[in-house]
Amino acid sequence: MERDPVKMLELVLGIPDVRILGVESTTRHIRIELESTRDGARCSRCGSEAVLVGTRVEEMVDLPIMGTPSRLLVNRRRFECPSPTCGAKRWFEPHPIEEFNPSER
Ligand SMILES: [Zn+2]
Repeated sequence: MERDPVKMLELVLGIPDVRILGVESTTRHIRIELESTRDGARCSRCGSEAVLVGTRVEEMVDLPIMGTPSRLLVNRRRFECPSPTCGAKRWFEPHPIEEFNPSER
């Protein structure tokens, strides 16, 4: 049985490889802020270890929690390739929820 409050929420949410940063409950819905716990990324063109250049918060509708509509605020990291000769454009890490198959929840 899980006793850590953050880990308990992660179990309830059922999304792998994410860390919950905060939860806010309003009269209309529950908002959960989370980010990926995966290590950094690699350039898909040259394989160099990517450099973090920023993050963007995306809000999305998720399944109700205990009957209350929920919104997920996802911090997505943006990377760039450090190689001056590679030419790869900056990219955002894959969305932890879009990558995840909902039928397995
Ligand atoms: Zn590259």
